[in-house]
Amino acid sequence: MKKNIVLNHAWLGLGGNLGNVLEAFLSARQSIADQPYCTLVQSSKLYHTPAIGPEGQPDYLNAVLLIRTQLSPFDLLQVLQIIENQHGRIRQEHWGPRTLDLDILAYADMQIETDTLILPHKQLHLRQFVLRPLCDVSPNWQHPLLKRNASKLLQCLLDKGETVLAEGFIW
Ligand code: ATP
Ligand code: CA
Ligand code: CA
Repeated sequence: MKKNIVLNHAWLGLGGNLGNVLEAFLSARQSIADQPYCTLVQSSKLYHTPAIGPEGQPDYLNAVLLIRTQLSPFDLLQVLQIIENQHGRIRQEHWGPRTLDLDILAYADMQIETDTLILPHKQLHLRQFVLRPLCDVSPNWQHPLLKRNASKLLQCLLDKGETVLAEGFIW
């Protein structure tokens, strides 16, 4: 019997500011592309962004990947956490320096709020380092709760006086 295969779009946020972050990103992107049940659709540019959290940290690198996947959001989170660990995720303190952070920014137009997973990511609309790369891949992506697209959400931050991040680069 033919089984229906459901492929959903998911948007992943990559961040890091410890060690060779570009190497970690390249390797993590390859790991995600090589996963069974995951296809890499598009990568954003890579952005240097000032760190949030404890002061005196090096700048972050941030990017967004658009994938298509058959994994449930919970299975996807588990896969991403394994990849973080395989790529030497080091964490000292919340929002402190780390080699590789992989967040699920959004999964289809799902809205979830559990102890382990919140979708869309709860800070997505407040972070230029997320919205800027998200706009590279999906400017028309609609926030299912806020009913605004990524471009509009980014514009809202800039209207509030946030400094525009430097231009990103291809990786
Ligand atoms: P932030 O979530 O503010 O970006 P962070 O990425 O540094 O901070 P982590 O320590 O990596 O936070 O994650 C803390 C927990 O967040 C994870 O254990 C995970 O279960 C939970 N979590 C909730 N929603 C998400 C999501 N959309 N993507 C990734 N992790 C999530
Ligand atoms: Ca994060
Ligand atoms: Ca995280």
